[in-house]
Amino acid sequence: MEDRFWDRKIELLPREGLEALQTERLRETVQKAGRAPFYRKAFSQQGITPEQIKGLDDLRRLPFTTKQDLRSGFPDGFLAVDRSDVVRMHASSGTTGRPIVVYHSRGDIRQWTDRVARCLYMAGVRRSDVFQNMMGYGLFTGGLGLHYGAETLGAMVIPMGAGNSRRQVRFIQQFGTTVAHIIPSYSLKLLETFDAMGIDPKKDTRLRILVVGAEPHSEEVRNRIEEAYGVFAVNCYGLSEMSGPGVAFECPRKNGLHAWEDSYILEIVDPDTLEPLPDGETGEIVLTTLRREAMPLIRYRTRDLAMAHPGTCSCGRAHRRLSRIKGRTDDMLIIKGVNVYPIQVEQVLMVFEEVGNNYLILLDREGPADRMTVRIEMSPEMRSRGRGELEALRKKIIHSLRGEILFTPKVDFVEPGTLPAGEGKALRVIDNRPGGET
Ligand code: ADP
Ligand code: ZN
Repeated sequence: MEDRFWDRKIELLPREGLEALQTERLRETVQKAGRAPFYRKAFSQQGITPEQIKGLDDLRRLPFTTKQDLRSGFPDGFLAVDRSDVVRMHASSGTTGRPIVVYHSRGDIRQWTDRVARCLYMAGVRRSDVFQNMMGYGLFTGGLGLHYGAETLGAMVIPMGAGNSRRQVRFIQQFGTTVAHIIPSYSLKLLETFDAMGIDPKKDTRLRILVVGAEPHSEEVRNRIEEAYGVFAVNCYGLSEMSGPGVAFECPRKNGLHAWEDSYILEIVDPDTLEPLPDGETGEIVLTTLRREAMPLIRYRTRDLAMAHPGTCSCGRAHRRLSRIKGRTDDMLIIKGVNVYPIQVEQVLMVFEEVGNNYLILLDREGPADRMTVRIEMSPEMRSRGRGELEALRKKIIHSLRGEILFTPKVDFVEPGTLPAGEGKALRVIDNRPGGET
């Protein structure tokens, strides 16, 4: 029965078939979207009709949709069905101003649920698994999204929600949790709790898969998670605007995240010119929903940066593969005139085995010049080292960082547990420069 989540017909559909399906669904989407006030206006101003969609190239006739558009459409400007057909809403955190609201019909929830179940099945999750969901429930989509998917697949779901670390560890042991859904930075933080409780996550638990996502993390961080937990850590990408987690997901070949192209059209565009980029070039991910009813979105600019890997995956799925997310366009820091993404710093740091799992980038200004300080928590092993050795390590780290970011940062080692760490998405940058944002 769970085999229904291995949809060979769709997952193995060759490219041409997939594109024909996308074209058909795009036409339907334009039709549906035209019922929402925002698109009704945009389409009528630009003379767009569903009949014009004859092939995927016609996508380029359609306007982009931005986060700002969603905000200005608050609350119902994008609603394409009668309110009575809406069964749920979610909202993204909306750090500034109005939140972004996403409405779902019954069909939307079913589609999303099946997609998540497909992702989990692909990663190897089965109905015999015990699935501990450590993501926040409520408006955040990580909780309910994976919950519904795992439950529909038939696993036993433990709806823990975020935080309460000791309880998380206790439940992992008491219920023999085999799969957990967890924010990557929190999974590393949780190791301290395992340690304090004298439990080795690798030897003393039944964990075998960790579904990690919701924030950028490097391959090095994945390696650390896999090593410490003795699991396959599978990367899951999604965003509330596109329903939530499960937009793209890794297969066990670990060479990119299959973006489900039967449900979305994936474009990578140059964020400045908005011209589509070929596979292999990094740009902004732009997504068009193909199955959504309550709130179809067209050419939505996610602000997330990644590339699509050229070629096909050896698993046989034709759905294109996204690289790891480099960050959001608004995560880019301009330091001493150089563009830096926090993930670049992480990649360098995590290669050093001695370095602990948490770090923070501090920016301030000294006179006219920007200054970047990287604070790194020491691992227990590092703390037992002599001064000279630490100094040598600091020099090596500075040297590697300079190789990556092209200027010389300051590096400070701090005691374990002293940097901010929560149960949600990690805070990686504090920008104290005048006009800087945190
Ligand atoms: P918010 O915008 O409030 O953070 P979301 O929960 O919708 O709300 O967050 C979605 C965003 O999280 C994505 O746009 C992306 O920036 C980030 N994200 C989600 N999954 C991943 C992942 N696997 N790797 C990197 N970043 C991710
Ligand atoms: Zn694959």
